[in-house]
Amino acid sequence: MGLSKLNNLYREVILDHADHPHNKGALAESTNAITLNNPTCGDEIDLQVKVGDDGLIDEIGYTGHGCTISQASASMMTEAVKGKHPSEALKMAKTFSDMAIGKEHSKEDLEELGDAQVLTSIMEFPARIKCATLAWWALQRALLKDTNEEDTDDQG
Ligand code: ZN
Repeated sequence: MGLSKLNNLYREVILDHADHPHNKGALAESTNAITLNNPTCGDEIDLQVKVGDDGLIDEIGYTGHGCTISQASASMMTEAVKGKHPSEALKMAKTFSDMAIGKEHSKEDLEELGDAQVLTSIMEFPARIKCATLAWWALQRALLKDTNEEDTDDQG
């Protein structure tokens, strides 16, 4: 799994999210939804977002299955963006995917990611990057769907 090579604290945070996922479960109604796969590992996420009348992400939920990293990442991602404006959430998704490919970001940008920032350490394990970024890609796709054309391509 490679997890044993991670910093202890990081590993603990990741395992805690994987064991006790936040926001897991389908929403009764959603404004934005998408299903994405990571074929290299077999991870799948079915993400649902509900943007309320206030323009904020009122509810977010997901179902799916996959490895520890992908499940923990989905939990962290939903936790981080809940209550945020979609544009803010998209900025966080960009920060995360930038970090995953080794681009630097300010400390403030990273702190905004909450627990998810520990997953940026996964870039040391190239085989697992897709597992970590799947949930964030799903978020981007789901939020951009409103204004963009339908796009149901799988990642990978
Ligand atoms: Zn995976």
